Amino acid sequence: MSTVEIILVVFGTSAFFAIGSFTCVIIDRLPVALDEPNRFGELWDTRPWPEVLGGNSRCSSCGEPVRPQDNIPVVSWLILRGNCRGCGDRIPGFHPVVELITPLLFLGAVWSIGSDWRLLPALWLIPVGVSVSAIDLRTMIVPTRIVWPAFFVSVALSVVAAVAEGEWLWLRNGVIGILVLAGPLFVLWFLLPKSMGFGDVRLATLLGFSIGFFSGVRPMGGVALAVCALGLASILGLTVGIVALGARGRKAQVPFGPSMVASAFICIALASQILEPFGQWGLTHG
Ligand SMILES: [Zn+2]
Repeated sequence: MSTVEIILVVFGTSAFFAIGSFTCVIIDRLPVALDEPNRFGELWDTRPWPEVLGGNSRCSSCGEPVRPQDNIPVVSWLILRGNCRGCGDRIPGFHPVVELITPLLFLGAVWSIGSDWRLLPALWLIPVGVSVSAIDLRTMIVPTRIVWPAFFVSVALSVVAAVAEGEWLWLRNGVIGILVLAGPLFVLWFLLPKSMGFGDVRLATLLGFSIGFFSGVRPMGGVALAVCALGLASILGLTVGIVALGARGRKAQVPFGPSMVASAFICIALASQILEPFGQWGLTHG
């Protein structure tokens, strides 16, 4: 690694510690509990963005502003032993996890993609995937307020990367990814609406596009990587389901979002390793 690259990695890691803190604010504030289930049977809705982003960091129980010295990612949570300095209420345990996982995912993205323009859409996916997973785990909803805007930003950043690197076939593979990943889930939702929420189909559209985009230029590579992600997501989802049924009993609802995000991140990071043995890996045409 050159000196410039080392500086960029150090700077980027610090930035992603801050982004992790910000992601916690979104996970805290975006969902709002409903008094009674809505027409989809969901117990949560989401707040509009201005309400989520307005104001300084504050405790979600007592509203006390968080002092700068209590706002250090991971460290502050450990020093305060997970309790608010003002009211003593618990600061949810996802805080240190999200604050740590976000910069680690940044390092993973740099390790796997390197320093070409594809890093731009890859880094965008990190706070999106982390916040969607955490919110789905806590509330069983996949927030449309995140997923659709995130999808359009992803497409825009991917177009920038494709133009900058002169490789439009990545975008075509993005479309293939949507068809292969979201298609089966859409059919499943259409035939058995009770089996999953439409939120999962929307999320599969966002993740399918990204998996396809990072699958290189071979059409079969795009198909194979999306199939791989679908298979891995199902295995993870089944595992989470069995654990949840064991822990919470037969009525447990099982979120599928975190399994889809985890499997998408793994398949994107290991795209070349997964596709190379099948002769389907290529980053440029011709
Ligand atoms: Zn408090």
